[in-house]
Amino acid sequence: MTDAASASPTPSPADVWERLQAGNARFVSGEVAHPNQNAARRSSLTDGQHPMAVIFGCSDSRLAAEIIFDVGLGDVFVVRTAGQVIDDAVLGSLEYSVDVLEVPLIVVLGHDSCGAVTAAMESAASATTPTGFVRSLVERITPSVLAAQRQGLTTVNETVEEHVKQTVSRITEHSRAIYEAVQDGRTAVIGVTYRLAEGRADLVSTTGEV
Ligand SMILES: [Zn+2]
Repeated sequence: MTDAASASPTPSPADVWERLQAGNARFVSGEVAHPNQNAARRSSLTDGQHPMAVIFGCSDSRLAAEIIFDVGLGDVFVVRTAGQVIDDAVLGSLEYSVDVLEVPLIVVLGHDSCGAVTAAMESAASATTPTGFVRSLVERITPSVLAAQRQGLTTVNETVEEHVKQTVSRITEHSRAIYEAVQDGRTAVIGVTYRLAEGRADLVSTTGEV
């Protein structure tokens, strides 16, 4: 990883979300452009990177960030954990992208039928916890499951959406650096849910100006 060059103009959070939406629309329609995936692009990036967004999403194999937004090399900084749970390494990666790479948009990406969210719902329902480090995943999703239940939301997909919203809030609650970047208008955090069947990414929450 190398630093962002100060010479390149930084797009606004709204500009970036528009570009990602356009790429997702191409992916949904099946008319993808596969931009920035050739040898010339690869060569142009050897001295640095200026990604337009961070995508912090679930590790699910069907949620490949560059594919679903039809982008290429150097376009997005990607952080993924099962159930897009936050830990210190995730927050460090997000802070790096905002403070060093000057990325103007953080996208929290969840998806329907998420196995990690389903596991957390089952754990809450049965009052049992998984063994090993999977327990850590479930424990980090459980507050979102409880928040969904308090609102009468009971399906997996409703709980996924609530978990995405909760995750957007938690990022600025836990990271002072990102909170300040949002306050200064240097970045924004948005929550997006993805539909596996249609391939569509829908905006469900925002923190900051988008
Ligand atoms: Zn998932």
